[in-house]
Amino acid sequence: MKQKDTNTKKLVILGAGESGVGTALLGKAKGYEVFVSDFGEIKQQYALQLEEAEISFESGKHTEEEILSATVVVKSPGIPDKAVIVQKLLGQGVPVISEIEFAAEYTDATIVGITGSNGKTTTTLLTGHLLQSEIEKVGVAGNIGDSFAKSILEQECSHYVLELSSFQLDGIKSFAPHIAVLLNITPDHLDRYEYKFENYVASKFRITMNQSEEDYFIYDADDKTITTYLENNNTNAQGIPFSITRELERGVCLRKGTIIMKLNDNEEELGNISDISISGKHNTKNAMAAATIAKLVGIRKQTIRESLSTFKNASHRLEDVLKIKNVNYINDSKATNVNATYYALEAVKKPIVWIVGGVDKGNDYSELLGLVNEKVKAVICLGVDNSKIIEAFQGSVEEIRESQSMKDAVRMAYNISEKGDVVLLSPCCASFDLFKSYEDRGDQFKEAVRNL
Ligand code: ADP
Repeated sequence: MKQKDTNTKKLVILGAGESGVGTALLGKAKGYEVFVSDFGEIKQQYALQLEEAEISFESGKHTEEEILSATVVVKSPGIPDKAVIVQKLLGQGVPVISEIEFAAEYTDATIVGITGSNGKTTTTLLTGHLLQSEIEKVGVAGNIGDSFAKSILEQECSHYVLELSSFQLDGIKSFAPHIAVLLNITPDHLDRYEYKFENYVASKFRITMNQSEEDYFIYDADDKTITTYLENNNTNAQGIPFSITRELERGVCLRKGTIIMKLNDNEEELGNISDISISGKHNTKNAMAAATIAKLVGIRKQTIRESLSTFKNASHRLEDVLKIKNVNYINDSKATNVNATYYALEAVKKPIVWIVGGVDKGNDYSELLGLVNEKVKAVICLGVDNSKIIEAFQGSVEEIRESQSMKDAVRMAYNISEKGDVVLLSPCCASFDLFKSYEDRGDQFKEAVRNL
């Protein structure tokens, strides 16, 4: 493990969530004087962990004299740069970095970093699953489960697979994954990027900015935003494009459903899409990216094939719930933007009763019109303000209804649906108008379905 000479330097952490507390524990173990400050409330579990480790912290305020005296500050991805305290720190020249940047200094493991607007969790978990089938110590962390810092502290792994959000990437300076993956880029979180899509795109590409010629950069060659950026900007890493629409000279593509990886004049078959346990074109892409990573780190082809078929995804992502009177109920509550819902509607091959709505993040629903015209027989809006959805789809479907609770929405779907249909919750929107989180929304959907 790399060791840094800290000479009791002061580490200040802004935000006492999963990544902040993980950083505090790692920082303390590495000899820093640590102070944690959270402007909001600190969850009890995290306060306890800090107390147990004898780390000083405050909540409900930011005490400037404690914070501005830091040698280095690690900021939670949830805190925007424009926050007053961050501006003050930056004004004084104090480095403000993310947990990923800080933690990476303390491991020599092979790091795989996965980003994109959609599919990060699925691809990270699937990659972890593929790697764990042959490698003993694989950590899966980042924007998922345990923080990277905490997992380094608890168990040194030979490989880490990290889910990375754009906010985490905004806080890196020298972090360089050996294998970086950019799954796709569609508009999201623009409120944090001055409502400029190009700023968000640049943020996603930070994943490759410190890579060298020995590193790999895997990306979706069917994504115009990605390919256009690459035409105008360089990466030092060896690019590995993947495509589900065409044969590539070099990269990863499909031939009669078989995933072919072509590097160095050499062709390898990494399995067939019929082997993959998760459905839909989007999951074919995720699986191609994960299989490519697995091959690059030396997993055998046979193991990749087998492991693709045994993977079980996290809940709320096209999750089969129940079949009632020959109607399938599917929970895709994690679909909080148009692109994710596009792939859900694409993946379902039967007539759909679609439950949609919530907090609109500036959605352009016109991208869905083709699929809605083709497959959706009824729309059930589930949100406080459904006007945009009604306006977008009233010409496309015969039946549009409104509901304000999951129970009512599911009951309506039950009444409308017929044998052979699918009831799909794929909301396209954030959940905060009626639910605590997307997990709460998905859990309420499953409960309402089970109570039918
Ligand atoms: P993230 O961690 O990036 O939010 P998830 O794997 O949790 O991604 O999936 C979020 C939503 O996006 C789900 O509804 C899922 O079905 C959908 N999705 C997954 N992979 C992709 C992809 N490659 N492209 C578009 N949508 C995807």
